[in-house]
This record gives sequence, C-alpha cells and structure tokens, in this order.
Amino acid sequence: MNPTDTSSAEWDIAAVRDHFLFPAEGRVVTNNAASTQPPRELLELYRSLAPGYENVHRGQSDASRELTRLFEDAYDTIAQFLGAPSRRSVALYRNTTEAINAVLYSLLTEFRDGDNVVTTMLEHNSNYVPWSALCRDILPRFGRRVDCRLARFDPETGELDLEHLASLIDARTKLVCCTGASNFLGTRPPLETVRDLADASGYVQPNGEERSYLLVDGAQLVPGTFTDVQALGADYLAFSFHKLLAPFGVGVLYAREHLLESSLPFLYGGDMIAEGRVFPGGVEYGPLPWKYAAGTPNILGAIVSAQALRLLHDLALTPTQAHYFGTGRPIERETTRRAMDRISAWNRHLTARALERLEAIPGLTIYGPGDAARRTSLVAFTVAGHDSGDLAHALNDAGVEARAGCHCATLAHHALGLTPAGSCRLSFYLYNTPEEVDVAVDALAAIVAGRRRVRGGRDVPVVGPAGR
Ligand code: PMP
Repeated sequence: MNPTDTSSAEWDIAAVRDHFLFPAEGRVVTNNAASTQPPRELLELYRSLAPGYENVHRGQSDASRELTRLFEDAYDTIAQFLGAPSRRSVALYRNTTEAINAVLYSLLTEFRDGDNVVTTMLEHNSNYVPWSALCRDILPRFGRRVDCRLARFDPETGELDLEHLASLIDARTKLVCCTGASNFLGTRPPLETVRDLADASGYVQPNGEERSYLLVDGAQLVPGTFTDVQALGADYLAFSFHKLLAPFGVGVLYAREHLLESSLPFLYGGDMIAEGRVFPGGVEYGPLPWKYAAGTPNILGAIVSAQALRLLHDLALTPTQAHYFGTGRPIERETTRRAMDRISAWNRHLTARALERLEAIPGLTIYGPGDAARRTSLVAFTVAGHDSGDLAHALNDAGVEARAGCHCATLAHHALGLTPAGSCRLSFYLYNTPEEVDVAVDALAAIVAGRRRVRGGRDVPVVGPAGR
C-alpha cells in the first residue's frame, strides 16, 4: 500500500461515523460533492446557542457581547485554517457563488477597455457565468469591452491544458480564475503553475502591481486538501461550508488584505461603516473585515461553521475525543496539515477503490484523471445505452445516493460532447466506508446488467421498459 494512504487500521471509521445521524438511516451518502452531512455536535451547537441568542455589534447586553465575541472568534478560526495573516482577509457570504460574485463587484470599476478575464473549461458555472455576465452583459452597458477567455482541458486525461492557458494570459489579463478541483472530472489543476503564469502576465493593476490577480474556486479543494492561501499565492479563494460538514448558509471569501482594503465592497448598509461616519455628503467605510459584512450576518451559521473546522481536526486526529471543538484554542499549521493530509489520504483510498471497481462495469466510461492521486474524491461516469438520470434513480432505489446531471459543470460536459450534457457521479467524504463504495458499485453493476436492485442489496424482477 502507498505509505501516504490511510488504511482502515489507521482511520477509525466507526468512531468518525459515530458523530453523524445518517448512518442510522441506512443511507449510503455518496453525493458529498454537492453537500456533506452535519455532525450531531454542530446541530447541538445551534441549540446550545439559543439561550444567549442576540444580534452582534448591535447591543450592550451580555448576550450580545458574548455572541459578538464568538462571531469574531469564528473569523479568527477561519483565517487560521486557511493560513491567512488575520481575520482582516476573511469575508463571509452565503456560499462560494456569492463570494465569487463579490469579487466581480469589487473589481467591477477597475476593468479597462480591452482587458480580459481568463478562466477554464473545467469550471463550475459559479466560476464561469459571473465572468461571462461581466464581459457580455454588464461591462458593455458601461461602454467597456472586456474579453472572457476559456482555457481547454485534455478530453482524454481531464487535465488542464497549461499551454493553452499560457497562450490566453497576456498583458491585458486582469484576472485569472481557476478551480482548485473540478466537481465533474475531479481534476486538480496545478495551481502553482497557474499562479506563475498569472504573475508573469505583465498586467498593470490600478495600484501599480504588475501581474494578473488569481482567484481560486476552492469549493471542492478546501474540504479535503490542506490549503495555505499564502503559500498558494492566491489573491482570492472562495469555498462553501456546506461541503465541509457545516449546515447550509455560509461561504468564505479569502482575499489579500490590501485588495480588500482598496476595493469597493459588494454590499452596502449597516455595520460596514465606520462608527458615526455617515453624512449627507458621504460615508466612511468600516475597518476590515466588517467593511465586507453589510447587514445582519448569518451569526449562528458563522459560529457553527468555524466550529466545523475545529471538529474536522478532531475527526481526523482524535475522533473519540474533542480537543479543538468547542474551544477557541489556537490550531498550529502543522496540526491542520496533518489533519487535512489524513482526510486526503482516506478520500483517496475510497476514490481509488471506486475507480478500480467501476472500470470493470461493461460500457462504463469514467471521466477525468485515471489516478486517484490526481483527482479529488469523486468519480463521474456514463454508461453506454443508459440515461444517467435513470441510473441515479435506480441507484437511489438501491439505497445509494448518487447524483446525475451536469453538476453545473456544463462547459466541460459540452467539451466532451456529452449529449444530453449529463453524467452520473459518486462523491465521497471522510465518513464513507470502502464497503459503501462496494455497495454503490455492486448496485450499479446489477442495474447495468438489467437487474433491479432494492435497499439491502436484493434484486427484484424488472417492471416496465426502464426497469423502474
Ligand atoms: N464551485 C465548485 C467547484 C463547486 O463544486 C460548487 C458546488 N457544486 C460551487 C462552486 C458552488 O458552490 P455553492 O453552491 O455553495 O455556491
């Protein structure tokens, strides 16, 4: 076994699963690239915050001050987890999509006629549609022409075509937008190389910096990979907490502090202004990070999300014992690296098994890199003669929660000539077991062989033309 793999002996999967409610329902949860499951501690945390429920930055009560402290601490935990210099680099939004749109609106006034934005065919629509809208719908109304360019990927391997990317980046490229991991192909583009290409563009930003900015869509990267924004050299990084154990509602935008300092916010209103500095003739914005926190925020969501990061360390390192969860204890970078490396290794172990076993199903085509080490923890495929939606429904009948569709990676489906633009996807996270991978693959094999499988692995006679 590869020494970096996490074997079942090293990963106490039973202890990890004990933190979750879904196993008791018999669910085979393999749609984790869409959203992960919430551990019971986080649901309990919501309840435990209720007696002190209050707004933040808007009250003198003990309750308000205590919740403000927890809310502000949440920013510190998130900054620490990302290796950001401080909370001043963190803005919270609803999700990755909103965080990326926040970058769009922050940079909106800076684009010059003749500039371009470079993104890739691997992107989720959240990291393409905003840039398409900016270039084709928004800026033309201001009389500015800005080009949206798309780097190709290799249809065989699913790897980003770096030569093509390099050919698109030039001295008019204000921004390069790249996914950290594709939610369809699983590809993990070499972000250091993308960073180097953006650095060398020669674009002159309004503040005199000579380089293109880099925005990384970290939605599929951050939940399973040690991410250090400073080592990465990203100017912007967005991700969603609902793919990282927390309940729905909170997304993160990390940005270099000087960019948040100088750019205009996306949203305007209460709490983002300097205390008392609002006059008929103008307004002074507040200090970071609150300049980017207009209106009453998702207070409990932010607190619970930051605690999800703490719990993530516990699950990866000491699943039977809370060490970081429920505390404000600083977490060393090395501890975060160790925890995330263990999660990566377990995810890779599951993905390798899925790749190996799926390959044996007749007529099945897997998309993206063949090697689990080169992909994130998901496998998307089609099966000749079978509609992907029908496969996902039949898998659900067998108790396996797959996802079919284009997963919002529409460009990549078109690029592969998939008509209709769809595939079926299994995606794994730290609580999945190798046995669940087997249940999913065995169910798929039975369905493809024309049998109808129900929960518990039993096959029943097929009724009707579609077998469902
Ligand atoms: N980017 C990627 C790579 C994703 O996988 C997703 C979610 N599927 C998003 C962006 C959008 O995330 P959200 O829906 O939380 O905004």
